[in-house]
Amino acid sequence: MTTIRLEEPGRFASLDSPPPAAPQPGEALVRVRRIGVCGTDLHAFSGNQPFFSYPRVLGHELGVEVLAVGAGVSRVKPGDRCSVEPYINCRKCVACRRGKTNCCADLRVLGVHVDGGMCEQLVVPARKLHPSATLSLDQLALVETLGIGCHAVERARLEPGEFALVIGAGPIGLAVMQFAAERGARVIALDVNAARLEFCRRHLGVPHAIDGAKDAALDTLRRLTLGDLPTSVFDATGSPGSMMEAFNFPAPGGQIVFVGLFQGDVTFNDPNFHRRELTLMGSRNAQSADFARIIGLIEAGRIDTTPWITHRAPLAGAASRFPEWARPETGVIKAMVEV
Ligand SMILES: [Zn+2]
Ligand SMILES: [Zn+2]
Repeated sequence: MTTIRLEEPGRFASLDSPPPAAPQPGEALVRVRRIGVCGTDLHAFSGNQPFFSYPRVLGHELGVEVLAVGAGVSRVKPGDRCSVEPYINCRKCVACRRGKTNCCADLRVLGVHVDGGMCEQLVVPARKLHPSATLSLDQLALVETLGIGCHAVERARLEPGEFALVIGAGPIGLAVMQFAAERGARVIALDVNAARLEFCRRHLGVPHAIDGAKDAALDTLRRLTLGDLPTSVFDATGSPGSMMEAFNFPAPGGQIVFVGLFQGDVTFNDPNFHRRELTLMGSRNAQSADFARIIGLIEAGRIDTTPWITHRAPLAGAASRFPEWARPETGVIKAMVEV
Protein backbone atom coordinates (compact mmCIF):
# COMPACT_ATOMS: atom_id res chain seq x y z
CA MET A 1 0.00 0.00 0.00
CA THR A 2 1.02 3.62 -0.42
CA THR A 3 2.19 5.54 2.63
CA ILE A 4 3.14 9.22 2.49
CA ARG A 5 5.79 9.90 5.11
CA LEU A 6 7.31 13.21 6.16
CA GLU A 7 11.04 12.41 6.11
CA GLU A 8 12.24 15.77 7.42
CA PRO A 9 10.91 19.34 7.33
CA GLY A 10 9.88 20.19 3.77
CA ARG A 11 10.28 16.68 2.29
CA PHE A 12 7.71 13.90 1.93
CA ALA A 13 8.43 10.44 0.52
CA SER A 14 5.90 8.09 -1.07
CA LEU A 15 6.61 4.60 0.24
CA ASP A 16 5.33 1.24 -0.96
CA SER A 17 4.81 -0.37 2.44
CA PRO A 18 3.32 -3.75 3.44
CA PRO A 19 -0.29 -3.54 4.65
CA PRO A 20 -0.77 -3.84 8.42
CA ALA A 21 -1.07 -7.27 10.07
CA ALA A 22 -4.52 -8.62 11.01
CA PRO A 23 -6.15 -6.78 13.93
CA GLN A 24 -5.47 -8.20 17.39
CA PRO A 25 -8.17 -8.53 20.10
CA GLY A 26 -9.72 -5.11 20.72
CA GLU A 27 -8.35 -3.66 17.47
CA ALA A 28 -9.81 -2.85 14.07
CA LEU A 29 -8.25 -2.69 10.62
CA VAL A 30 -9.53 0.35 8.74
CA ARG A 31 -9.33 1.70 5.21
CA VAL A 32 -8.43 5.39 5.38
CA ARG A 33 -10.73 7.43 3.13
CA ARG A 34 -10.27 11.07 4.20
CA ILE A 35 -7.44 12.92 5.95
CA GLY A 36 -7.94 16.47 7.17
CA VAL A 37 -4.82 18.64 7.21
CA CYS A 38 -4.40 21.03 10.10
CA GLY A 39 -1.95 23.46 11.67
CA THR A 40 -0.05 20.70 13.46
CA ASP A 41 0.67 18.98 10.11
CA LEU A 42 1.65 22.23 8.42
CA HIS A 43 3.97 23.21 11.29
CA ALA A 44 5.57 19.75 11.18
CA PHE A 45 6.09 20.25 7.44
CA SER A 46 7.57 23.72 7.94
CA GLY A 47 9.83 22.45 10.73
CA ASN A 48 8.47 24.78 13.40
CA GLN A 49 6.58 22.20 15.48
CA PRO A 50 8.72 21.97 18.65
CA PHE A 51 9.74 18.46 19.81
CA PHE A 52 8.42 16.85 16.61
CA SER A 53 10.47 13.81 15.58
CA TYR A 54 11.07 12.72 11.97
CA PRO A 55 10.38 10.65 9.96
CA ARG A 56 6.67 10.61 10.75
CA VAL A 57 3.50 9.60 8.91
CA LEU A 58 1.15 12.54 9.50
CA GLY A 59 -2.65 12.37 9.60
CA HIS A 60 -4.79 12.57 12.75
CA GLU A 61 -8.11 13.85 11.32
CA LEU A 62 -9.47 10.70 9.78
CA GLY A 63 -12.62 9.45 8.11
CA VAL A 64 -12.30 5.67 7.74
CA GLU A 65 -14.15 2.50 6.80
CA VAL A 66 -13.79 -0.65 8.90
CA LEU A 67 -12.33 -3.63 6.99
CA ALA A 68 -11.95 -6.20 9.78
CA VAL A 69 -12.14 -6.41 13.55
CA GLY A 70 -10.18 -8.44 16.09
CA ALA A 71 -11.61 -10.77 18.71
CA GLY A 72 -14.01 -9.26 21.22
CA VAL A 73 -14.86 -6.16 19.18
CA SER A 74 -18.59 -5.39 19.09
CA ARG A 75 -18.42 -1.58 18.89
CA VAL A 76 -17.91 -1.56 15.11
CA LYS A 77 -18.19 -4.07 12.26
CA PRO A 78 -16.78 -4.33 8.73
CA GLY A 79 -18.36 -1.71 6.48
CA ASP A 80 -18.95 0.84 9.24
CA ARG A 81 -17.80 4.39 8.51
CA CYS A 82 -16.14 6.03 11.47
CA SER A 83 -14.34 9.05 12.81
CA VAL A 84 -11.07 8.19 14.56
CA GLU A 85 -10.27 9.58 18.01
CA PRO A 86 -6.49 9.83 17.53
CA TYR A 87 -5.57 10.20 21.21
CA ILE A 88 -4.18 6.87 22.36
CA ASN A 89 -4.20 6.93 26.16
CA CYS A 90 -2.63 4.52 28.70
CA ARG A 91 -5.84 3.79 30.69
CA LYS A 92 -3.75 3.58 33.91
CA CYS A 93 -2.52 7.04 34.89
CA VAL A 94 -4.37 9.39 37.24
CA ALA A 95 -5.84 11.40 34.35
CA CYS A 96 -7.15 8.26 32.62
CA ARG A 97 -8.55 6.89 35.88
CA ARG A 98 -10.48 10.15 36.30
CA GLY A 99 -11.85 10.05 32.74
CA LYS A 100 -9.55 12.79 31.45
CA THR A 101 -8.26 10.60 28.64
CA ASN A 102 -7.41 13.66 26.54
CA CYS A 103 -4.53 14.63 28.84
CA CYS A 104 -3.19 11.17 29.72
CA ALA A 105 0.29 11.34 31.26
CA ASP A 106 1.54 9.05 28.48
CA LEU A 107 -0.64 10.30 25.62
CA ARG A 108 0.35 9.26 22.10
CA VAL A 109 -1.44 11.10 19.31
CA LEU A 110 -1.67 9.36 15.94
CA GLY A 111 0.21 11.37 13.32
CA VAL A 112 2.11 13.33 15.97
CA HIS A 113 3.83 11.02 18.48
CA VAL A 114 3.22 7.81 16.51
CA ASP A 115 2.60 7.24 12.80
CA GLY A 116 -0.83 8.40 11.63
CA GLY A 117 -3.19 7.98 8.71
CA MET A 118 -1.53 9.31 5.53
CA CYS A 119 -1.72 5.79 4.12
CA GLU A 120 -4.31 3.37 2.80
CA GLN A 121 -4.81 1.06 5.78
CA LEU A 122 -4.28 1.36 9.52
CA VAL A 123 -4.86 -0.71 12.67
CA VAL A 124 -6.36 1.24 15.58
CA PRO A 125 -7.93 0.36 18.96
CA ALA A 126 -11.62 -0.25 18.22
CA ARG A 127 -12.56 1.84 21.29
CA LYS A 128 -11.17 4.86 19.40
CA LEU A 129 -13.61 4.47 16.48
CA HIS A 130 -16.81 6.52 16.46
CA PRO A 131 -19.23 5.26 13.81
CA SER A 132 -22.07 7.09 12.10
CA ALA A 133 -24.57 5.66 9.63
CA THR A 134 -25.33 9.05 8.07
CA LEU A 135 -22.28 11.32 8.21
CA SER A 136 -20.23 11.68 5.02
CA LEU A 137 -16.56 10.70 5.00
CA ASP A 138 -15.68 14.41 4.88
CA GLN A 139 -17.79 15.07 7.96
CA LEU A 140 -16.25 12.12 9.81
CA ALA A 141 -12.77 13.53 9.13
CA LEU A 142 -13.87 16.95 10.45
CA VAL A 143 -15.00 15.59 13.83
CA GLU A 144 -11.52 15.76 15.37
CA THR A 145 -11.05 19.46 14.50
CA LEU A 146 -14.54 20.22 15.77
CA GLY A 147 -13.69 18.22 18.90
CA ILE A 148 -11.02 20.70 19.96
CA GLY A 149 -13.63 23.46 19.98
CA CYS A 150 -16.33 21.27 21.49
CA HIS A 151 -14.09 20.25 24.38
CA ALA A 152 -13.05 23.84 25.11
CA VAL A 153 -16.71 24.89 25.24
CA GLU A 154 -17.54 21.91 27.49
CA ARG A 155 -14.71 23.00 29.82
CA ALA A 156 -16.22 26.48 30.05
CA ARG A 157 -19.76 25.27 30.84
CA LEU A 158 -21.18 28.22 28.89
CA GLU A 159 -24.59 29.52 29.84
CA PRO A 160 -27.18 30.64 27.28
CA GLY A 161 -27.05 34.38 26.67
CA GLU A 162 -23.60 35.02 28.07
CA PHE A 163 -21.05 36.87 25.96
CA ALA A 164 -18.24 34.58 24.79
CA LEU A 165 -15.23 36.21 23.16
CA VAL A 166 -13.23 33.97 20.81
CA ILE A 167 -9.80 35.33 19.93
CA GLY A 168 -8.38 33.83 16.73
CA ALA A 169 -10.59 32.86 13.78
CA GLY A 170 -8.53 29.98 12.42
CA PRO A 171 -10.03 26.47 12.28
CA ILE A 172 -9.83 25.93 16.06
CA GLY A 173 -11.37 29.31 16.84
CA LEU A 174 -14.11 28.67 14.29
CA ALA A 175 -14.88 25.35 15.99
CA VAL A 176 -15.09 27.08 19.38
CA MET A 177 -17.48 29.65 17.88
CA GLN A 178 -19.76 26.97 16.44
CA PHE A 179 -20.10 25.11 19.74
CA ALA A 180 -20.40 28.30 21.81
CA ALA A 181 -23.25 29.42 19.55
CA GLU A 182 -24.81 25.98 19.80
CA ARG A 183 -24.81 26.44 23.61
CA GLY A 184 -26.69 29.71 23.16
CA ALA A 185 -23.81 32.06 23.97
CA ARG A 186 -23.55 35.43 22.20
CA VAL A 187 -20.30 35.03 20.28
CA ILE A 188 -17.82 37.83 19.61
CA ALA A 189 -14.94 37.02 17.24
CA LEU A 190 -11.63 38.89 17.46
CA ASP A 191 -8.90 38.51 14.84
CA VAL A 192 -6.51 40.71 12.88
CA ASN A 193 -7.44 39.14 9.51
CA ALA A 194 -10.43 40.86 7.88
CA ALA A 195 -11.08 37.94 5.50
CA ARG A 196 -11.36 35.49 8.37
CA LEU A 197 -13.73 37.80 10.25
CA GLU A 198 -15.88 38.05 7.14
CA PHE A 199 -15.92 34.25 7.02
CA CYS A 200 -17.21 34.15 10.64
CA ARG A 201 -19.99 36.59 9.85
CA ARG A 202 -21.07 35.07 6.56
CA HIS A 203 -20.70 31.33 7.17
CA LEU A 204 -20.99 30.96 10.94
CA GLY A 205 -23.51 33.70 11.60
CA VAL A 206 -21.29 35.22 14.29
CA PRO A 207 -23.06 38.46 15.26
CA HIS A 208 -20.04 40.51 16.36
CA ALA A 209 -16.59 40.50 14.79
CA ILE A 210 -13.81 42.83 15.96
CA ASP A 211 -10.86 43.59 13.70
CA GLY A 212 -8.00 43.92 16.18
CA ALA A 213 -5.84 45.49 13.49
CA LYS A 214 -8.18 48.47 13.19
CA ASP A 215 -10.26 48.74 16.36
CA ALA A 216 -9.31 49.05 20.03
CA ALA A 217 -10.49 45.63 21.24
CA LEU A 218 -11.20 46.53 24.88
CA ASP A 219 -13.26 49.61 24.02
CA THR A 220 -15.23 47.73 21.38
CA LEU A 221 -15.90 44.88 23.82
CA ARG A 222 -17.20 47.35 26.42
CA ARG A 223 -19.51 48.89 23.83
CA LEU A 224 -20.84 45.53 22.57
CA THR A 225 -21.50 44.21 26.08
CA LEU A 226 -22.96 47.51 27.40
CA GLY A 227 -20.00 47.92 29.73
CA ASP A 228 -20.05 44.38 31.19
CA LEU A 229 -17.25 42.74 29.16
CA PRO A 230 -17.54 39.06 28.12
CA THR A 231 -17.83 36.46 30.92
CA SER A 232 -15.94 33.82 28.92
CA VAL A 233 -12.84 34.42 26.81
CA PHE A 234 -11.31 31.73 24.58
CA ASP A 235 -7.89 32.23 23.04
CA ALA A 236 -7.29 30.07 19.97
CA THR A 237 -4.32 31.99 18.58
CA GLY A 238 -1.34 30.25 20.17
CA SER A 239 0.24 33.70 20.13
CA PRO A 240 1.93 34.75 23.39
CA GLY A 241 1.03 38.43 22.92
CA SER A 242 -2.63 37.62 22.38
CA MET A 243 -2.78 35.16 25.27
CA MET A 244 -1.31 37.67 27.71
CA GLU A 245 -3.58 40.45 26.47
CA ALA A 246 -6.56 38.10 27.01
CA PHE A 247 -6.29 38.72 30.76
CA ASN A 248 -7.69 42.22 30.15
CA PHE A 249 -10.91 41.10 28.52
CA PRO A 250 -13.04 39.03 30.95
CA ALA A 251 -15.72 40.53 33.17
CA PRO A 252 -15.33 40.23 36.96
CA GLY A 253 -15.96 36.59 37.92
CA GLY A 254 -15.24 35.52 34.34
CA GLN A 255 -13.01 32.90 32.84
CA ILE A 256 -10.28 32.44 30.25
CA VAL A 257 -9.77 29.20 28.32
CA PHE A 258 -6.48 28.74 26.48
CA VAL A 259 -7.21 26.49 23.50
CA GLY A 260 -4.16 27.43 21.42
CA LEU A 261 -0.69 26.95 22.85
CA PHE A 262 2.90 28.01 22.34
CA GLN A 263 6.24 26.86 23.78
CA GLY A 264 7.02 29.47 26.40
CA ASP A 265 5.81 31.29 29.50
CA VAL A 266 2.55 33.17 29.97
CA THR A 267 2.81 35.96 32.54
CA PHE A 268 0.07 38.13 33.97
CA ASN A 269 -0.47 40.79 36.58
CA ASP A 270 -1.78 39.14 39.73
CA PRO A 271 -3.87 42.04 41.07
CA ASN A 272 -5.52 42.32 37.65
CA PHE A 273 -6.29 38.57 37.82
CA HIS A 274 -7.26 38.42 41.50
CA ARG A 275 -9.39 41.54 41.72
CA ARG A 276 -11.81 40.05 39.20
CA GLU A 277 -11.44 36.50 40.61
CA LEU A 278 -10.76 35.11 37.16
CA THR A 279 -10.59 31.41 36.33
CA LEU A 280 -7.88 30.30 33.91
CA MET A 281 -8.15 26.94 32.15
CA GLY A 282 -6.17 25.00 29.61
CA SER A 283 -8.03 22.87 27.10
CA ARG A 284 -6.26 20.01 25.35
CA ASN A 285 -7.55 17.72 22.61
CA ALA A 286 -10.99 16.20 23.21
CA GLN A 287 -12.55 13.23 24.99
CA SER A 288 -14.44 10.22 23.66
CA ALA A 289 -17.73 11.72 24.77
CA ASP A 290 -17.00 14.86 22.72
CA PHE A 291 -16.70 12.72 19.56
CA ALA A 292 -20.06 11.05 20.21
CA ARG A 293 -21.65 14.42 21.02
CA ILE A 294 -20.35 16.07 17.81
CA ILE A 295 -21.53 13.21 15.61
CA GLY A 296 -24.96 13.51 17.24
CA LEU A 297 -25.07 17.27 16.66
CA ILE A 298 -24.07 16.97 12.99
CA GLU A 299 -26.61 14.16 12.49
CA ALA A 300 -29.27 16.40 14.03
CA GLY A 301 -28.31 19.33 11.77
CA ARG A 302 -27.23 21.51 14.70
CA ILE A 303 -23.61 21.85 13.53
CA ASP A 304 -23.11 22.82 9.90
CA THR A 305 -19.94 21.49 8.27
CA THR A 306 -20.50 22.93 4.79
CA PRO A 307 -18.24 26.01 5.20
CA TRP A 308 -15.24 24.05 6.38
CA ILE A 309 -13.54 22.33 3.42
CA THR A 310 -11.88 24.84 1.09
CA HIS A 311 -9.16 22.72 -0.59
CA ARG A 312 -8.88 19.10 -1.77
CA ALA A 313 -6.24 16.70 -3.12
CA PRO A 314 -5.82 12.97 -3.72
CA LEU A 315 -3.31 11.11 -1.50
CA ALA A 316 -0.73 10.96 -4.29
CA GLY A 317 -0.91 14.73 -4.85
CA ALA A 318 -1.18 15.84 -1.24
CA ALA A 319 2.55 16.24 -0.51
CA SER A 320 3.07 18.78 -3.29
CA ARG A 321 0.16 20.91 -2.00
CA PHE A 322 1.54 21.41 1.52
CA PRO A 323 3.53 24.58 0.68
CA GLU A 324 0.33 26.18 -0.66
CA TRP A 325 -1.82 25.04 2.30
CA ALA A 326 0.72 26.46 4.75
CA ARG A 327 0.10 30.01 3.42
CA PRO A 328 -2.94 31.70 5.03
CA GLU A 329 -3.35 34.08 2.06
CA THR A 330 -4.53 31.12 -0.06
CA GLY A 331 -7.72 31.27 2.03
CA VAL A 332 -7.39 27.73 3.30
CA ILE A 333 -9.65 26.83 6.19
CA LYS A 334 -9.46 23.05 5.91
CA ALA A 335 -7.69 20.99 3.24
CA MET A 336 -8.99 17.46 2.79
CA VAL A 337 -7.01 14.56 1.33
CA GLU A 338 -9.00 11.85 -0.46
CA VAL A 339 -7.63 8.31 -0.40
ZN1 LIG B 1 -5.75 18.68 13.85
ZN1 LIG C 1 -3.15 7.71 30.96
